[in-house]
Amino acid sequence: MPKTSLNALDEIYQYFMHRSGPLSGLHLVNFIGYINTKNDSIFPDLQVFHTQMDSNDLYVVEAMTRSINLPDELIKTYLEDNKHNSNVFITSQVMKPKSKGKILLRSTDPFDKPRIFPNYFSDEKNEDLELLLEGIKLSKKLVQTEILTRYKAKVVKFTLPNCKDYDFDTDEFWRCAIRNIGSHLFHQVGTCKMGPEGDPTAVVDPRLRVHGLKGVRVIDGSIMPTITSGNTNAPIIMIGEKGAELIKEDWLGNVRDEL
Ligand SMILES: Cc1cc2nc3c(=O)[nH]c(=O)nc-3n(C[C@H](O)[C@H](O)[C@H](O)COP(=O)(O)OP(=O)(O)OC[C@H]3O[C@@H](n4cnc5c(N)ncnc54)[C@H](O)[C@@H]3O)c2cc1C
Repeated sequence: MPKTSLNALDEIYQYFMHRSGPLSGLHLVNFIGYINTKNDSIFPDLQVFHTQMDSNDLYVVEAMTRSINLPDELIKTYLEDNKHNSNVFITSQVMKPKSKGKILLRSTDPFDKPRIFPNYFSDEKNEDLELLLEGIKLSKKLVQTEILTRYKAKVVKFTLPNCKDYDFDTDEFWRCAIRNIGSHLFHQVGTCKMGPEGDPTAVVDPRLRVHGLKGVRVIDGSIMPTITSGNTNAPIIMIGEKGAELIKEDWLGNVRDEL
C-alpha cells in the first residue's frame, strides 16, 4: 500500500512505542558526506546529501520533489520508479560558491520588496557548475560499489523539458540538468558585509557596528564577508552569541567610563 499522510499515524506509533521507524532519524538528511573532489586539501569543497526513500513511499517522494520545485515530468519519473524500487536521492552542494549574487533596492520606499539577483553559475571559469558535475560523477560511482551492486542499484534515467537535445548521462546532459534544476539551500549571506572602514563594500565594522552610524548594529548572517563552508545556521547562532558579548562589553565599558 502506498504511504500517505493518513498512515503516517503508523510511523508515529512506531516511534513512540519502539523508538524506531522514519521518525527516529533526520530522514531527508540522515547522512551527509563531505568530499574534497581535487584531493588537494583536508577541507572539503563539496557537501553531499543522501535522502533514502522506501519503495512505494509516494508521500515523501512527492512532497520532497515538489518542495524543490522539480518539473512535473521528472516527478512523474521518480514516482513511477519508486512504485517498484527503494530510492536514494543524492544531491551535491558547492561549499564555497564562486558565483556571487546581488541585492538592490527597488525604490526609496523602505517597504518595497528588494530586487534579488542570485546569479547562480555566473562565475567566469564555470567552477561552480563543473564542481557539481564532479559531484554527480562521484555519486554515480556509489552505484558500482560492491554493496550497492548486490542490491542491483542503478541510476534512474530521466529527461527534462529543456535538455532533450542531450543524451542522458553525458556531461552535456548533466550540465544542462544542473542549470535547469539546480537549486539552493536557503543559505544566503553577506548583504551587510563586515570589513574595515576604508572598504566601500563593508557595512559593519569588526564589532558589528554600522559604519558611519551611532547605536546601530547588525548581528546576523548578513555580516559574513564570505559564506562559511556547509550549512549556515550554527555559525549564525555563533554570530548572535558573539554579538551579544560585544554589546555587553561595550555597554559595561561605557558604564564604567561614566562612573
Ligand atoms: C527553509 C529553510 C531551511 C533551512 N535549513 C537549514 C538547515 O537545515 N541547516 C542550516 O544550518 N541552515 C538552514 N537554513 C538556513 C538558516 O536557517 C539561516 O541561514 C539562518 O536562520 C539565518 O539566520 P539570520 O539570523 O541571519 O536570519 P533570519 O533567521 O532570517 O532572521 C532575521 C530576522 O530578522 C527579522 N527582520 C527582518 N527584517 C526586519 C526589520 N526590518 N526589522 C526587524 N526585524 C526584521 C526577521 O523577521 C527574522 O526574524 C535554512 C533556511 C531555510 C529558509
